[in-house]
Amino acid sequence: MNAPRLAFGSYPTPVERLERLSSERTTLWVKRDDLTSKLYGGNKVRKLDHILAEARARGRERLVTFGAAGSHHVLATALFGRLAGFAVDAVVFPQPASAHARENLLADVAQGAHLHPVSTYLAAPLELLAQWRRDAYFVAAGGSSVAGTLGYVEAGRELAAQIRAGELPEPDEIVVALGSGGTAAGLAVGLALEKLSTKVIGVCVVDPARPFVAFTRWLARRTAKSAGARPGDVDVDARLEFDTRWLGRGYGYPTDEGRRASARAREGGLVLDPTYTAKSFAAALDRVDRGDKKHVLYWHTLSSAPMAPLTAGLATLEPALREMLR
Ligand SMILES: *Cc1c(COP(=O)(O)O)cnc(C)c1O
Repeated sequence: MNAPRLAFGSYPTPVERLERLSSERTTLWVKRDDLTSKLYGGNKVRKLDHILAEARARGRERLVTFGAAGSHHVLATALFGRLAGFAVDAVVFPQPASAHARENLLADVAQGAHLHPVSTYLAAPLELLAQWRRDAYFVAAGGSSVAGTLGYVEAGRELAAQIRAGELPEPDEIVVALGSGGTAAGLAVGLALEKLSTKVIGVCVVDPARPFVAFTRWLARRTAKSAGARPGDVDVDARLEFDTRWLGRGYGYPTDEGRRASARAREGGLVLDPTYTAKSFAAALDRVDRGDKKHVLYWHTLSSAPMAPLTAGLATLEPALREMLR
């Protein structure tokens, strides 16, 4: 049985047609998962809905997780974990500096997370062990446990409902950034369970890609089982593709294609980050330019909520909280 979820997210998120960025042969659509929560949106919210429910069901009081210093996952866990009543410890390792990463790190602290910096990601496991206590619940990197990934199985089903309701045609492809893999894996399973033929293209933003690709496939199979799929219901290899051409120098390093994609995204009203969405949106635009598919859906995974209330501390969140907890 899956634990009942804590509902921090508001669903369904809208689907929009990006008219100005479409080409004659290919229409570009966007799934607005930047709007999963007014407090802090993006793709980590759907995962945490399930993760926090599981931690609570197990009677844990502390969350222990890890990520890069500017990690959206660490920030989302700090914020929603605290709102759900957990203490949050996060082991953080360095990443290339950017204004965006710096702002996330400030927000982690403002949200009361206890940060444990290490000098390289290789040192993270030892520090995680050092932070271990009996009351702790371990939150996987990027929230990509089976529980977290179930949030994206639901997201796939949500999209299927929007297609049935006529909000968009069935896309040929969904293009989404691939970090820890839970988003792409969960979507692939959800779409398969809904019997759609849409493929999921995971745009690798982490390196080396190979172990992340293998993990994502494994996670999809494991999550399919947990979601009640029978053998044969979900053909992971046919459903999930990986595009490794957009990484550049490595995780967190901006690319020229990413910069160009960010400029074009602004025409469609979207703000991107250099680490994930600039690279995945560049891949989506490339597919539109090639024009061999009719409908491409870019799955937007970055929060568009204002950061000022998050870096300033909890007090300024009160108005938004009051609106959500009527
Ligand atoms: C974490 C993250 C991703 C990657 O999602 P995974 O499920 O870890 O693969 C993509 N985009 C943004 C903005 C993220 O924060």
